[in-house]
Amino acid sequence: MKVLQKKPILLTIVLILITSCSRISQSPTISPSPLTPTHTPTAMPSPTPTPEPEPVEWWKDIVFYEIFVRSFKDSDGDGIGDFQGIIQALDYLNDGDPETTTDLGIGGIWLMPINPSPSYHGYDVTDYYAVNSDYGTMEDFKQLLEEVNKRGIKIIIDLVLNHTSDQHAWFQASTDTSSPFHTWYVWSEIDPRIPGPINSDSWHFNATNDMYYYGVFWSGMPDLNYDNPAVSAEMMQVSKFWLEEIGVDGFRVDAARYLFADGAAQQDIPATIQWFEEWRSFYKQVNPEAFTVGEVWTGLFVTAKYSQGMDSLFMFDLAEDIKGGVYTPNGPRITKSYLDILAYFPDMNFSTFLSNHDQQRVISFYNGDMAKAKMAAFVYLTGPGTPFIYYGEEIGMVGSKPDELIRTPMQWAGEPGGGFTKGTPWEPLNSNFGEFNVALQDEDPTSLLNHYRMLVQLRNQYPALSSGEYQPLTSNCRQIYPILRMDGEQTLLVIANLSDLEISGCTLSIEASPLSGDYQLSTLLGEGEFEPMSFDADGAFSEYPLPDIVDPWQYFILDLTQ
Ligand code: CA
Repeated sequence: MKVLQKKPILLTIVLILITSCSRISQSPTISPSPLTPTHTPTAMPSPTPTPEPEPVEWWKDIVFYEIFVRSFKDSDGDGIGDFQGIIQALDYLNDGDPETTTDLGIGGIWLMPINPSPSYHGYDVTDYYAVNSDYGTMEDFKQLLEEVNKRGIKIIIDLVLNHTSDQHAWFQASTDTSSPFHTWYVWSEIDPRIPGPINSDSWHFNATNDMYYYGVFWSGMPDLNYDNPAVSAEMMQVSKFWLEEIGVDGFRVDAARYLFADGAAQQDIPATIQWFEEWRSFYKQVNPEAFTVGEVWTGLFVTAKYSQGMDSLFMFDLAEDIKGGVYTPNGPRITKSYLDILAYFPDMNFSTFLSNHDQQRVISFYNGDMAKAKMAAFVYLTGPGTPFIYYGEEIGMVGSKPDELIRTPMQWAGEPGGGFTKGTPWEPLNSNFGEFNVALQDEDPTSLLNHYRMLVQLRNQYPALSSGEYQPLTSNCRQIYPILRMDGEQTLLVIANLSDLEISGCTLSIEASPLSGDYQLSTLLGEGEFEPMSFDADGAFSEYPLPDIVDPWQYFILDLTQ
């Protein structure tokens, strides 16, 4: 980044001031910066530039698990999940031994916000340099990092860049028009009455100073003013603090679309996209292996504009296409969705999921149909991209909006407190925790949990399934979902009957592929007899017959060998 290499002396001084201020940010009387808000390109502190090393894209080979700390595991009986609780649960996630099949086999954890916050969810931060005392101390968090590192698990944390809490000291100071923090937020003496992209009005009245401030989500979350270089520099420092001083492996970026606003244009504006590109250069200098995944919750075309600003982006359309393509069996809907993504992200740097903390849980989407939940998991855990599993999806936890009900405590066992806590849970568990819990499903080989374990372990075992090329086939049967995954070492044919019907007379065809000649098909997963498959010089074949009968919900992973 050219800007960083020619750092003016004045800017350096300013940055030192900002840096030294950041740790005493509870005392906003100290001037953070003599700079006034401008529209000049964002300036930021830079570590010593180092030669660009070969990137190690470790996130392509693992499955992540999203944890809402408050609801995952309580270690001390206060009814609130905590860092020590996660440590106790690590054997469940990954016992550190690739040979065992009793763990989930995940390779990464995304922790929803861990900073101090007045809300239960934490997306309104009051201190970016500390952890929420409900969850433990910074020492507890560092111990968690040590424990996950021992097992080869990576940890990323939610980074809430767009806004702070209205309880944050920066915002409290900013109500004073003479405070240097006044320009850290966006104030107006009159209500601009500009409609917001999320709410009808993004402007909120503040009784302290009789002014209006901008907050795109709600009044409790005032937006930071990224037109002020001091704000930008501060959030660079925050990123550096967690990567370098604390040692996390990266960030999940909340609400990435909204950093900059320009009148009525309040999402995805060029300044926002450019900011992320500068941020990426910055954090890659801090840690070249850091990983970021962005929440850009919109259509693929717009999401792709951020592909240079973060390592990966969540694929929201795909989640709907997979869930919908299983709900109403439709293989082509799913393959088209993946192909659309791969056209924008040929390097496969994108992240997949079925649900997250903002969405209805999968089993509720399917009205309790466990076979459909298993099929949706099969599809995305055999597909390209970095899969994320939202905690509890692997045991079929129910949940529909409001948000609290899709973030209920993890159901570990059928005992009082659900194995989540010895005390009173911060919010009640789902009433079905006696039937749906880890302890019960652990013992049932046909459970959703063991289905997830099997799929993640297969993915870990066969790199073709994680980072291999994705090539769909076509079928005369719409219920059939057929794809090839190829990584040079191995070619796998993945086939699923997405429906609850026994189907017959189905064939597969492909118009082009890198393969040629005759292949034997052996089953890695599923039982069935498959004839050899012959590709012509273009890598094509037509009307290859599947077994006479394909059972409801049947799936196969086949190894093709010449
Ligand atoms: Ca606790």
